[in-house]
Amino acid sequence: SITKPRSEVLYKEALQHIVGGVNSPSRSFKAVGGGAPVFMKRGKGAYFWDEDGNRYIDYLAAYGPIILGHAHPKVTAAICHAAENGTLFGTPTELEIEFAQLIKAAIPSLDKVRFVNSGTEAVMTTIRVARAYTGRNKIIKFAGCYHGHSDLVLVAAGSGPSTLGIPDSAGVPSSIASEVITVPYNSVEALEAALDRWGNEIAAVMVEPIVGNFGMVMPKPGFLEGLCAAARRNGSLVIYDEVITAFRFHYGAAQTFDGLEAPSLAAIEPDLTALGKIIGGGLPIGAYGGRKDIMEQVAPLGPAYQAGTMAGNPASISAGIACLQALQEPGLYDRLNKLAAGLEAGLAAAAREHGIALTINRIRGSLSTHFCSHPVSDYEEAQDTDGEQFARFFRLMLDQGICLAPSKYEAWFMTSAHTDDDIAATIAAAERAFAVM
Ligand code: PMP
Repeated sequence: SITKPRSEVLYKEALQHIVGGVNSPSRSFKAVGGGAPVFMKRGKGAYFWDEDGNRYIDYLAAYGPIILGHAHPKVTAAICHAAENGTLFGTPTELEIEFAQLIKAAIPSLDKVRFVNSGTEAVMTTIRVARAYTGRNKIIKFAGCYHGHSDLVLVAAGSGPSTLGIPDSAGVPSSIASEVITVPYNSVEALEAALDRWGNEIAAVMVEPIVGNFGMVMPKPGFLEGLCAAARRNGSLVIYDEVITAFRFHYGAAQTFDGLEAPSLAAIEPDLTALGKIIGGGLPIGAYGGRKDIMEQVAPLGPAYQAGTMAGNPASISAGIACLQALQEPGLYDRLNKLAAGLEAGLAAAAREHGIALTINRIRGSLSTHFCSHPVSDYEEAQDTDGEQFARFFRLMLDQGICLAPSKYEAWFMTSAHTDDDIAATIAAAERAFAVM
């Protein structure tokens, strides 16, 4: 079993200077019983090593972006090349055009795009643009879907479903929260009821087309079609938050995904899309885009303002181009799918053998593990799972050098660097963990 004395020391030190010792709350171990998080020192491929030199198989993948594994040679070379040639000019560059073309080719609903620095910024701006375009103020979102930390979407982003917004964060005025209506995911009926009541005030319906924030959850057949039809009837825009989902399951987004797992996802197109995570190849990025007439609301063409000193910087754009090019390798996504399928089968068998109730939601190379015996298709079902059991499992895995996200709601992400041996080692570790549990 692993010991981490350096992480303990560094955590105490970090607490003196950095609020909570972490630069994003999801990195703390608060949701799994507290204590020092692991301080990582370096990563290569499917592994990272902590400050004590312990090696971990990484399924966190930095909450999603690291789909090629750590320090992928092509991405690293692109970043170094960008660094050597100047990281920021405050002018347009040719690279931005190349990257925009690459993304547009993969996601045809994007007539025009704009690069920003995070998923939060991307989502925040799609809402502004939708408001500018429709002249309406309210949005509808789905309970448990996380859309970054801007005021408007910090409503029911982590607490139970409510009809009229109650903010999840201090500092979000109730006047802002009252502009958000939250309904359960996978319920067209609830959406239609909200549209009946507030219809002429709704600028947009915002959705994770495939959920990544309360486990991996597929839209039920007909949900997205019903959502889009209801929104359009009402003159509201449809915004897909594809920050997690774009380039996750195949070379494209959820909106262009029409494999066996998702027979009808590609039948509809959103008006606006927010992107982030994978498209930056591990460097900070976000992007938003959509229909030409809507995107032309944005400054300097239109009245909706959005800007950024760091936006479209050559380092992030170069990393993004290299990442997307690497993701075009034939068979890459099928490999992620096979790895995750093997992991799913092994975890399920181990849980069965040890009498542990475990629901696994797997979508291609991503999966989530829910300690419960019911299916998980909305936020209520995801909440109604055994968090203490997850916390025990998380720690038992970490002690064996397997790193998951420290939250029962987060996914496990395969990277192209994981091997069959990594999966076998992970299943063996899970067997030992379940035996103790
Ligand atoms: N939207 C979704 C669906 C996300 O999962 C996240 C981040 N987990 C965000 C938006 C926010 O992105 P960022 O953390 O880059 O601001």
